[in-house]
Amino acid sequence: MQATTTEMFEAMNAVMPITSRPALAFVRGRGSWLWDHEDRVYLDFVQGWAVNALGHCPALIARALNDQANTLINCSPAYHNLQAVLYARELAKASGMDHVFLANSGAEANEGAIKLARRWGARHRDGAYEIITFEDAFHGRTLATMSASGKREFAALFEPKVPGFRKARLNDLASVEALINSRTAAVMLEPIQGEAGVVAASDAFLRDLRALTTRHGVLLMVDEIQTGMGRTGRLFACEHAGVRPDVMTLGKGLGGGVPLAALLATREASCFEPGDQGGTFNGNPLMAAVGLAVLEHINDAAFLANVRAQSVYLRARLERLSAQHGLGPVRGRGLLLALELNRDCGAELVTAAREHGLLINAPRPHLLRFMPSLTVSRAEIDDAMTRLEAALGEVTGSI
Ligand SMILES: *Cc1c(COP(=O)(O)O)cnc(C)c1O
Repeated sequence: MQATTTEMFEAMNAVMPITSRPALAFVRGRGSWLWDHEDRVYLDFVQGWAVNALGHCPALIARALNDQANTLINCSPAYHNLQAVLYARELAKASGMDHVFLANSGAEANEGAIKLARRWGARHRDGAYEIITFEDAFHGRTLATMSASGKREFAALFEPKVPGFRKARLNDLASVEALINSRTAAVMLEPIQGEAGVVAASDAFLRDLRALTTRHGVLLMVDEIQTGMGRTGRLFACEHAGVRPDVMTLGKGLGGGVPLAALLATREASCFEPGDQGGTFNGNPLMAAVGLAVLEHINDAAFLANVRAQSVYLRARLERLSAQHGLGPVRGRGLLLALELNRDCGAELVTAAREHGLLINAPRPHLLRFMPSLTVSRAEIDDAMTRLEAALGEVTGSI
């Protein structure tokens, strides 16, 4: 549908206000690039919040969508469909999990994980229902996943929260152990806390947590919604630590841009009974076909090696920029990196960078996060650094 700019700005009034957004609308994208309503072009290092793993509009997704749209879009979750069963098999094989439940958003997958832990506690641990999560964690925006999150801004919202979540401190095993009791069903964490500002659980902590949860007979549930699907340079971030969880959730990059998420579990943890879990759009063949195409493309040694190589390059460029401008350290893994600023100028930098045609994100006021397409090129990284440097010069010169 075509519209004049005036019409477009008027139409924005119909959008429920939930956050402040810049006065523009994106119209099309290709690879690392996005074009707005005035045909201004932006280099996109946000990529839908680490969603477009293969960049904007990859031919592979367009093809999978088109082929499947002409074959079967939906046949009701009351029946198996070919795409969903093939996709479940491949996802299970790639992750080392046994069972896959397909969902439409990360929060929905985590909500399913929380229910699974409660069902598992009811069945195997005498009604245990508590889940230990972590300070500053982010697990989604449904009521239960907000309750599971440890984001400080969520603390006072939508009371009363869903009960049963106890918060430990990341990389502090004793803080977890102190919370384990007969009511504990599971421990749930992100391998790298993305929204908290790219704060990693150390590999040693993940291994210790695996041993601790096994010793106490409670589930280890890993939220790989942001870190999974190659984002950290391995297919799943917990592979870096050599840890196999009992439950894993995936989303964001899983569908390469389309709404697709998944709840995965080992045979031992997978204990839903008929009626416990479901949903109208869950496992629809249209999204499953895309997921299958994306998984086949990303689960490839050369593809993942390239993610690691581009990560080394982006990190080095950010470190150089940091040294030149007296900023803080770079952290993260793969193509989920953050640059610490030594002052709270993240929001101004995001705006200034956008004016220079670069999209970045500041999950915390003193921090920039970089989540380019996993297919980003060196030339695009160089280009992003030039734009960021221009923005930095303006913002730090003006404070
Ligand atoms: C984005 C995210 C979620 C929520 O996913 P939605 O698709 O936005 O519901 C949950 N956990 C983590 C770690 C995330 O990054």
